Amino acid sequence: MENVSMMWRSDEPGPEGHGGRAVAVLEDGTDAEPILCEYTVQDPSSPRKGQVERFTTSYWWDYDGEAARQLAVAVRPVCDCGWEGAERYPALLDDPTGTEGDETSGPYGEWHAHIQQVLATVR
Ligand SMILES: [Zn+2]
Repeated sequence: MENVSMMWRSDEPGPEGHGGRAVAVLEDGTDAEPILCEYTVQDPSSPRKGQVERFTTSYWWDYDGEAARQLAVAVRPVCDCGWEGAERYPALLDDPTGTEGDETSGPYGEWHAHIQQVLATVR
């Protein structure tokens, strides 16, 4: 999925330890659990052909309600430092960029404001 990265970074030389991202929020208001994915290796040249590989993902746009996956109804911004955004934003599964917003709106905007605040404190 283009234009969307798992982690947000500040454009400016930002403070260390402040990687932000949007997490999926379910209809009952709780955070979504990581999704366990399974697939069988099909590549004939792979030594693991036929074996089942497992991995987990917690990208908010993977919570699409399909199969056994949970459905994200909202996202909220969080930061590696423990900061959490107060607002919930609608999760638009067909518009990831619009969901995440920009520097002045959406969850990215809220996280960006948090970074500005951190920068103002350390200076
Ligand atoms: Zn932070």
